[in-house]
Amino acid sequence: MGYAINIGLEVHLQLSTKSKVFCRCSTKFGSEPNSQACPVCLGLPGSLPVLNEEAFRYSIKAAIALNCKIAEVIKFDRKNYYYPDLPKNFQISQYDKPVAQNGILTIKTKGGLKDIRIKRVHLEEDAGKLFHKGGYSLVDYNRAGTPLLEIVSEPDLTSPDDTYEYLTSLKAVLRYLGISDCNMEEGSLRCDANISLREESSEGLGVKTELKNMNSFKGVRNALEYEAKRQASLLEDEEKISQETRLWNEEKGVTLSMRGKEEAHDYRYFPEPDLMPFTVDKVMVNHIKEGLPELPMARQARFISEYKIPEYDASVLIQEKEIADFFEKAIKKHDNPKGVANWMMGDITAILNASNISITQTSLLPENLARMVKMVDSGAISVKIAKAILPDMVKSGGRPDELVEKKGLAQISSKGELEEIISKVMAENDESVSDYRSGKKNALTFLVGQVMKATRGKANPGMVNEILLSKLN
Ligand SMILES: [Zn+2]
Repeated sequence: MGYAINIGLEVHLQLSTKSKVFCRCSTKFGSEPNSQACPVCLGLPGSLPVLNEEAFRYSIKAAIALNCKIAEVIKFDRKNYYYPDLPKNFQISQYDKPVAQNGILTIKTKGGLKDIRIKRVHLEEDAGKLFHKGGYSLVDYNRAGTPLLEIVSEPDLTSPDDTYEYLTSLKAVLRYLGISDCNMEEGSLRCDANISLREESSEGLGVKTELKNMNSFKGVRNALEYEAKRQASLLEDEEKISQETRLWNEEKGVTLSMRGKEEAHDYRYFPEPDLMPFTVDKVMVNHIKEGLPELPMARQARFISEYKIPEYDASVLIQEKEIADFFEKAIKKHDNPKGVANWMMGDITAILNASNISITQTSLLPENLARMVKMVDSGAISVKIAKAILPDMVKSGGRPDELVEKKGLAQISSKGELEEIISKVMAENDESVSDYRSGKKNALTFLVGQVMKATRGKANPGMVNEILLSKLN
């Protein structure tokens, strides 16, 4: 029997404000444990929370970019539960009046573009962190009170692959807004997934399970793939699926039951008495709207129409704003978008990935990349030489023409000089020469290779071919 899959995601995003959401403690990562905690974020008697305006602005930014309807009135609520990383025994969150609702994120799927509905976006505070060591546990409250944006989708995703796309697109949008670094490995973006299966012909949703503990987008996809199979085999055997929370075990590649799913009423939500509801300033919202950057999908469309690069290239380049910005700066200096795109998606990406850094953390300048591509295009250097100097350009920020000069790598394009080298190579390889003349045409490739070897890759390949052919024939 065929089953249709429904997946909904709850994404928690740490906002990159300098201070916490209801107090002035720093949100800096990696400080001495409990050095960034005050009476407010520790919930000591008599302390009162005050909303961080920047965190609120960030949440409005995200809501606009996700095409949500922004609330007229904002209200905070207490979500009550006990856990040692939660010093107040409640979390300030939002229940019935979130920042925004009813949005759309458009994603690319195998079947074309698809709109995924965003149910709600709300602002809340993060909890602290527990460290378990041997027989005891330690708690660090530095993270308690860090602003979190929760973005909940409707169960519109229909496969683990689409879910991966959704996360990738969401991350790109949020990174463009500059409101979070969205690093799942470091915990600034966390994601829980709901998944249910139903018979393809049926309308309603099946019983869902909630998956937690995924540490990467790939982890989310793998967990969903496992869970879809597990649920399908239960349904095949006419067994019941229980509504529960399951933990993804990355090492074993399985989901394991953790607890029954809690309901909203288990948290005894009630209005936060220390923060008054307030009306959203429409002028401020409009101001934020006008200041939004061009978002990834729009930029991709513009790259395709304006620079005539393939859709695939555009989709890769727009993923990170820094890369897209770099690309645009480089092609302003040398008008070969496809050439620049190839270098950025190939060698440069490989260098960045190898040392796990972003392009702005390197010394490579857009104008230097433009110069290098121009030198390749004009035949001043070969692709091989360009590849050889690129790591230096990334590391030290040097100009390609200066590096070529310094290393004596300039291409040999003098006809006289090349003819001399080629005659010598032909004399040393007379067997290949007669092979070629007797019809074994691929002997030419070997001879070209020998010339390149003799010149340490500096010979102009086009000229080598031309001179060799004229001498051979
Ligand atoms: Zn504090």
